[in-house]
Amino acid sequence: MTDDIMTPEMRDARYVMHPLTDARANLQSGPLIIDRGEGIHVYDLAGNRYIEAMAGLWSVGLGFSEPRLVAAATRQMERLPYYHPFSQKGHGPMVDLAERLVTMAPVPMSKAFFTNSGSEANDTVIKMLWYRANALGQTQRKKIISRQRAYHGITIAAASLTGIPANHTGFDLPLPGFLHLTAPHYRRFARPGESEEDFATRLAAELEELILREGPETIAAFFGEPVMGAGGVIVPPRTYWEKIQAILERYEILLVADEVICGFGRTGRMFGCETYGIRPDVMVLSKQLSSSYLPISAILLNGRMFEPIADLTHTIGTFGHGFTGGGHPVAAAVAVETLRIIDERDLVARAAEAGAWMQERLATLADHRLVDEVRGVGLMAAVELTPARLADPAAWPTGALGRRAAQLLQQQGVISRAMGDTLAFCPPMIIDREGIDAIVAALRTTLDLCL
Ligand code: PLP
Repeated sequence: MTDDIMTPEMRDARYVMHPLTDARANLQSGPLIIDRGEGIHVYDLAGNRYIEAMAGLWSVGLGFSEPRLVAAATRQMERLPYYHPFSQKGHGPMVDLAERLVTMAPVPMSKAFFTNSGSEANDTVIKMLWYRANALGQTQRKKIISRQRAYHGITIAAASLTGIPANHTGFDLPLPGFLHLTAPHYRRFARPGESEEDFATRLAAELEELILREGPETIAAFFGEPVMGAGGVIVPPRTYWEKIQAILERYEILLVADEVICGFGRTGRMFGCETYGIRPDVMVLSKQLSSSYLPISAILLNGRMFEPIADLTHTIGTFGHGFTGGGHPVAAAVAVETLRIIDERDLVARAAEAGAWMQERLATLADHRLVDEVRGVGLMAAVELTPARLADPAAWPTGALGRRAAQLLQQQGVISRAMGDTLAFCPPMIIDREGIDAIVAALRTTLDLCL
């Protein structure tokens, strides 16, 4: 068949290799091709409208048609479409963004370093940690602790931090020196009779045992998302972060908060760290930072992290790390404008209010026969399904029900994300009650159709 009589879906199947996709399924049908967006909605090529209840990939906070972001990008394109920050060069948008981020951080931070994606940012933090350890003469301090079900990205080191087996299988990952603790999922991992606080105490003890077993002097840092996102929207149990931080402080281990999903209002406060009283040494930001209109990520470092690195740079030369597109002026200008809009429209407070409504409405599904757990905070939530109460549960291997439900929900005009048998919801922060009600109504219909 020649290209001119093939549909875009067929051409996609022929030419595109997709990330995180079952290649056989894509060969059969091609993908759902999205053509345009407006507010909380996107439209496919046939003109069908969907509520994007995942804001793309947890990221399009301001919705799909914010003219001010387009204008900010255009202005910067016309003025200076590209420059870089290597070798003591710079440009205005990067300075503006760095100042804004350092001054708005919930704990004292000293510098911002820019990259293009969450994965690059986390890889960069790992290199900074190793460099810092060498600068301090602590050459053994290279191991990194994260958690099962964590998602920190997909490049080699970031994927090693990630604790999801599907991102390791077939890739010879994780690398050695990346250690994973139990995920703080109370419903799944608490022992019979254990309270949330007892569970948190046990997980903190598990951290301490690991540190002592490995040797505190070998541990560089602990990485954590305030709320785990791609691992299934896992909301930490009460007192979890307080207890984890006490252990890290006891052994002087740095804490890196991966705010790639939680940052900029998603949990109902500006940062997930504020929602959970986390005092990180490093914060990793991306996604809603630019509403994902252009790729950009930022690392905020406090003095404890930055100063040894700067000292070494001073002594032996250059910090030999950076990316051509890091802190790209057009992406940085869009990010500065995104933060301005979030402030001017009081979007964090609005998202908190919309989030409370979303949690309340989704909770009404908790007694549905197919629902195992509804969980979430702010404008991020998960509905975990179980085939246990279907007529033939054995016919539903893990993930099959999730895939089926996401597909049916899409037919009802709502795009969600299936993670195993869990459906995630993380709509644009501009969503209102009417949009949330439409998602919940479509989900109820979907669950009934699955029975
Ligand atoms: N960290 C977290 C918490 C994420 O959710 C993601 C992506 O979903 C990443 C890092 C990786 O970001 P990216 O896909 O931009 O590399």
